[in-house]
Amino acid sequence: MLEIYLCKTCGKYALVSRTSHRKDGDICRACGSKMQLSDLTYEQWIRLSPKEREAWVQKESLAGMEKKNG
Ligand SMILES: [Zn+2]
Repeated sequence: MLEIYLCKTCGKYALVSRTSHRKDGDICRACGSKMQLSDLTYEQWIRLSPKEREAWVQKESLAGMEKKNG
């Protein structure tokens, strides 16, 4: 089973197998920030279309939060 980790700093995501991830979460390979385990399960994830995934990443990451702060 895979889990979805998201970097909220740059919006990169990674599918991490439960046996390989570390207690403190994975580090984003793009920017070095700590990635966070998302609420989305792998089963939910695989049903999303590429556009829906993009929208989800935008919503969850800082890139999508700019609108709220403005
Ligand atoms: Zn990142």
